[in-house]
Amino acid sequence: MVEPNRGADVVVVGGGSSGCVVAARLSEDPERSVLLVESGPGYRAVHDRRVRDYRALPVGPGSDYAQVYGVELTPGVASTMVRGRVLGGSGAVNGVYFVRGTRADFDRWPQAWSYENVLPAFRALERDIDFGGPWHGSSGPIPVRRQRSDRLSEISEAFLDAALERGYPEEPDKNGAGGGGVGPVPLNIDGDVRLDTAMAYLLPAWNRPNLTVESDTDVVRILFSGSRVVGVEVETAGVRRIVHAGRVVLAAGPVETPVLLMHSGIGVADHLMDNGISVILDSPGVGSNFSDHPQVTLPYRPRESLRRDTTSPPIETVLNTADIEIRPYTAPPAVLVPRSGQQDQVLGIGLMVPEGRGDIRLRSADRGDRPRIEYRYAQSESDRRAMRQGQAIGLDLLHSPALSRLVVPLYEEVSDRCMLAHLETSYHLCGSCRMGGSDDASAVVDERGEVRGVEGLTIADTSVFPSVPSRGPHATAVMVAERISTFLTQSRR
Ligand SMILES: Cc1cc2nc3c(=O)[nH]c(=O)nc-3n(C[C@H](O)[C@H](O)[C@H](O)COP(=O)(O)OP(=O)(O)OC[C@H]3O[C@@H](n4cnc5c(N)ncnc54)[C@H](O)[C@@H]3O)c2cc1C
Repeated sequence: MVEPNRGADVVVVGGGSSGCVVAARLSEDPERSVLLVESGPGYRAVHDRRVRDYRALPVGPGSDYAQVYGVELTPGVASTMVRGRVLGGSGAVNGVYFVRGTRADFDRWPQAWSYENVLPAFRALERDIDFGGPWHGSSGPIPVRRQRSDRLSEISEAFLDAALERGYPEEPDKNGAGGGGVGPVPLNIDGDVRLDTAMAYLLPAWNRPNLTVESDTDVVRILFSGSRVVGVEVETAGVRRIVHAGRVVLAAGPVETPVLLMHSGIGVADHLMDNGISVILDSPGVGSNFSDHPQVTLPYRPRESLRRDTTSPPIETVLNTADIEIRPYTAPPAVLVPRSGQQDQVLGIGLMVPEGRGDIRLRSADRGDRPRIEYRYAQSESDRRAMRQGQAIGLDLLHSPALSRLVVPLYEEVSDRCMLAHLETSYHLCGSCRMGGSDDASAVVDERGEVRGVEGLTIADTSVFPSVPSRGPHATAVMVAERISTFLTQSRR
């Protein structure tokens, strides 16, 4: 049964890292009614200590706040991938690493997103506790701080010493001029809580009469009249209804945004027809050519002398060198991800500018069927070489005087075989509905986030990134949501 609903000027689909920003910004205008629809749990979950506790990622088996997908990392290597499914989205369950994309990243984006254009938005969204000056903001919604050197866990401190001993440059501010090196990670933590966009943006706007938040509700389809968006169909506890809207802003994240478009008739035309879905718009970029950071783990055995740490953020320091990021996790996966069961503590080795591109495709027209997600990691010799180099750098650091007194690596081999045996994803999927300039025919959205070929439909999440930035995407997601909200506000004037 489908019941009609009174509707809103704007429906924002997905209350994740980006959607909370968009809903808060667009509802600043009291004349605009905004409805935010979120699949996962709402207000009460935002205050749940499992979400607020920044030391753990609440995405293990049985989590109330995660959606799990089966994926293929590379042919022959199956795995699982999670996304946050709660108000705050993946930002509510992530590792609180809050590092901006670099100037070199934005050189690969369309002109409207040049580094000069995005820097003011990065500054405006943050309240940096440690640094001021031309790179930083002091009054934005997201607090950013780094772990003080005298509070670093023993493993982070030894890692920092090891990288400096080996001659890597020090990078005290990873949200500064760039250039790489080893240094403390900017963290979106306030006092002792994780501060995601649900807390920083949505809660302060919660009581506005023109903002409604519906949680535990799925958007199942975008509705069109010809090529004009007229609303969405939503489902709450098995009951479907129609919500009319003048504009729909998709922020369902880089998996569900393309999936929702495909279920609504926008995507690769042949693929939609194969699944019995009527085509509204043939848009070959939907779900195509996404990128993410492969991670190879280097497990180690702690020596007796290594103090167990239960109070630190998951990553306090990283080394960025060439296109590799080395991450000394502060605790074993079993501690960082409750009920995950993996006991060996690891160095993570992320390939930050991968060549590999993946695809998301429907398995059927049934919304209950999870999509097929193929990453195609490690397919090019260049990606494999970079990951082997990363393994070699990681092993060299583990054998340094500073680290070898605390840990013993559990493998020594540097090879493709060993790399594939320890392959994971960083959960940084981006670019599944890429933006592009007017000369880029396969781009799904234009430089302002408007879906090409239809009217009244915007995408404002990590799916529009041209490619995954060379740092974790969370800070860049907030910046993109801020700027697309500004574009939407300007276009109404
Ligand atoms: C476990 C994990 C750890 C990570 N660690 C880090 C880190 O430390 N640093 C970093 O930079 N990045 C990290 N990331 C990545 C980062 O958090 C994401 O890139 C970012 O949060 C994505 O933002 P988004 O707005 O695109 O999507 P999301 O934040 O995932 O939001 C999408 C929202 O839409 C909702 N939704 C989906 N479909 C529908 C629908 N049909 N109807 C209604 N609602 C819907 C979802 O429930 C979700 O709340 C991590 C990600 C994960 C999963």
